[in-house]
Amino acid sequence: MTLYGIKAVKLIVEPIEERCVHCDTVHTMDMHIFQKYISLMGIPVFPVGKTGISFCNHCKQTTRRKDMRGSLKRVFEKVRSHTHIPFWTWMGTALATLALVLTAFYNWQ
Ligand SMILES: [Zn+2]
Repeated sequence: MTLYGIKAVKLIVEPIEERCVHCDTVHTMDMHIFQKYISLMGIPVFPVGKTGISFCNHCKQTTRRKDMRGSLKRVFEKVRSHTHIPFWTWMGTALATLALVLTAFYNWQ
């Protein structure tokens, strides 16, 4: 197990109407959106952004977010905007806050 790092979890897979830039077919693409988060000793600490890929089910090629252009990039932003950050990606921050509050409470007593 790594001590810390950035991990990603898949949020959504949505079919899109874009033309594949590799094989030029239409209606064969999916947009995959991932939530990235900081992990400390296997515990998610906080979210750090979303990324995504498009995948063509015909030619099996992927296009990473940084390589998306034009309408494909706009579709990525649209799909990304209606995905929500999972609450559990804040678990480490919530546990640290709870520990601080409990420590302050017991020191105050
Ligand atoms: Zn294709």
